[in-house]
Amino acid sequence: MLKKAILVLMLISVFLCFPSLAKAAPKSKTAERPIEIYINDKKIESDVAPIIMKSRTMVPLRVISENLGGSVYWDGGEKTVRITNSSKTILLKINDKKATINGQTVTLDAPAIIIKDRTMVPLRFIGESLGAQVYWDNDARRVTIIRQEARQEASIIGFSYGTLNGNPTIVLKGDVPLEYAAEQTQDKDKIVLDIKGKIAVENNALYIYDDYIEKAVIGSVQQDPPLSRVVVDLKGDVPCEISTSEDKSSIFVSFVNALKNINVNIEDSKVSVNLVTIKSTGINYFFLTNPDRLVLDIENALLSVASPELPENGYIERIRLGQFAVNPNTVRVVFDLKADVNYQVFQDKNNISVIFSEVNTVKQINVESGKNSSAITIVADGDIGYELKPDRANRQLSLVIPGVGVDKKLLEKETLDINDGIVKSVELKKVKGSKNYDLQIIVNLNSFTSYELATTPPSSEIKLVIYKSPLQNKVIVVDPGHGGSDPGACCGNVQEKDLNLDIGLKVKDLLEQRGAKVLMTRDKDISVNLYTRAGMANEINADLFISIHINAGENASASGTETLYYPDPEKKALAQAIQKSLVKAIGLADRGIVERPGLVVTRETRMPSALVEVGFITNNNDRALLLREDFRQKAAEGIVNGIMNYLTGKLD
Ligand SMILES: [Zn+2]
Repeated sequence: MLKKAILVLMLISVFLCFPSLAKAAPKSKTAERPIEIYINDKKIESDVAPIIMKSRTMVPLRVISENLGGSVYWDGGEKTVRITNSSKTILLKINDKKATINGQTVTLDAPAIIIKDRTMVPLRFIGESLGAQVYWDNDARRVTIIRQEARQEASIIGFSYGTLNGNPTIVLKGDVPLEYAAEQTQDKDKIVLDIKGKIAVENNALYIYDDYIEKAVIGSVQQDPPLSRVVVDLKGDVPCEISTSEDKSSIFVSFVNALKNINVNIEDSKVSVNLVTIKSTGINYFFLTNPDRLVLDIENALLSVASPELPENGYIERIRLGQFAVNPNTVRVVFDLKADVNYQVFQDKNNISVIFSEVNTVKQINVESGKNSSAITIVADGDIGYELKPDRANRQLSLVIPGVGVDKKLLEKETLDINDGIVKSVELKKVKGSKNYDLQIIVNLNSFTSYELATTPPSSEIKLVIYKSPLQNKVIVVDPGHGGSDPGACCGNVQEKDLNLDIGLKVKDLLEQRGAKVLMTRDKDISVNLYTRAGMANEINADLFISIHINAGENASASGTETLYYPDPEKKALAQAIQKSLVKAIGLADRGIVERPGLVVTRETRMPSALVEVGFITNNNDRALLLREDFRQKAAEGIVNGIMNYLTGKLD
């Protein structure tokens, strides 16, 4: 459908004008002869004569209005009078100086009053309101009302360029409502606007040079009656909207953005669709299924072009164009797709290109099972990207490959059972993505563990390695408390710092045996600042931070194991896992986990962290055990098991 924006020819008639009033308001009270009323030389008979009150001439409303072409409606309940003529509705209330003209409130010199059942109104008000001229002859005590038929000559007092609702606009302003006619020239390169009125502006030309207009000039066509002409030179066929202000004294010629060209090219195995708007504008696109289609919305644009010829191709069934919305304007372009296709949308100023090409297809998914790791390799016929989402709670790894086709044979079986001790199964799902169909690969694990992507994009192959040990490649900072000049808690010649270091080194060995990378905040008897300890872990972006301490109490009977944490869900979960496992390993009393917001090392570390108080140095039984090598080894094993349980999500 060819839909050209057509400029509507508009003719605005203005019925009323506001003639200046002759000075009325008589002050003399020489005689008390009745006041006569003449309308256009014809004497009007009224059973109530006009009167002068407080220097205002009050005239009977009904007689005046009806002789001036207005209809009068009286509402006795509301004590209101409504007077209407072809363009005005006047609402008056008895004894109220407020009145409305076409809904706009005005204040009268004197309120309407009732005398002998007749509504009397100030002469000046009613005369002005109904568009008449009113004269007072003091000697003759006569009111003469001239019904003014000729409209006041308009002057164009403003000719400028600005924006209206974000669109470039030429504004013509009159001193009274303007009457105009507009049309676009045959070859659509000019807009001509004829306005009844004379020119009263200094600048006769506007040089604009925006995306729509080159210039606009105003000139006089004739003197009597005055007629002015505005000619706007357009840059090609530009849609234009003409509107006026509410009082019709301003005319707005607005130029709107449009989709003015669309063409399709086929080259090699690509289809490119080029869309041209008059000026750069916002676009938005998305993919919909059933049937598969790409939707492109062009904001702030009118449709000014027909659907293009679509040559035979493998990707697009058809292209549909429509004006999706007006005010604000949106053009919608729908590409009905034939198959899984790859598309890219580019925008360079006012040029929008959509390039359709063959989608890359996943051809193979291989699983290699080993003793300590399993590897899943996804092979495609071109570069593919991915997004990996671990789900510890569901013991899953989800790999989403966006905008990709899948070999039909692969989708025949939705779940591949692996059961190699690390990977239980691999599920394949074709899911609707934001841009296209995505392939989702869900790896179901025996227990949540560590993993690594062994390929870097862009690549036609993605290799996901899943390790049996949840500690594989994890970076863990072990922090033996105190040291150097700070012995920590003491009992006789037993010092906390020595026990902490020994357990810490044992933890390090165990973690490393399971594949972790361990950094000690100290591995000998030296002083290390608390902030430095946390800073070391933050600097290497460690996965976990474990601080090892021995407790002390004023009461020698205090005994057992506790783990302190900074209030944070992950830090709490880590503390819980270590506490549980450590108590199980060494058998001391379970004092539970304790929230301690003030501890520097757990507060300042940005990764999950916990501070273990293995036992009490001040308790004879605890101390005797802590001095035993095998007990400290068990404590280290308990801590490491707790770390593993935290990493695998085994919090039971
Ligand atoms: Zn300590």
